[in-house]
Amino acid sequence: MYQTDKTKQLTAKQLQRKEYYKTHRAERLAQRKEYYKTHRAEILAQAKEYSNAHRLAVLRHYSNGKIECAVCGFSDKRALQIDHINNDGNMDRRLHGSGLQFYMWLERNHYPAGYQVLCANCNAIKAAKNLARKRVKSEVRITND
Ligand SMILES: [Zn+2]
Repeated sequence: MYQTDKTKQLTAKQLQRKEYYKTHRAERLAQRKEYYKTHRAEILAQAKEYSNAHRLAVLRHYSNGKIECAVCGFSDKRALQIDHINNDGNMDRRLHGSGLQFYMWLERNHYPAGYQVLCANCNAIKAAKNLARKRVKSEVRITND
């Protein structure tokens, strides 16, 4: 998928293109900028569609094909989120990014375990419960000192 072999020999055609780009860089960048200006809506719609397809594939996998919240069964895709079952989302986001980058990481890694689909409400309630649990633990620690 990603070209990582920098030692790869370029073909004559590729070298020609590379040379052409070097001498016409400003012109090509201006063309690209102009194309983006005139096709902005189309480009953004395609990007959204691409991202959404990956998101749906991930949601489908982690809810066993039904695309719904694991707790309450809510199924409006706009409010469904990938939940880190072990509450290690912060670290995971640092390592694997968020949004499309994260969905593609999950796909590339064959959907590792440790994730589930929750609706925004159930995810927020879970976060609030975890926070309350942490506060109780730290209060216990303070009174024990
Ligand atoms: Zn829910």
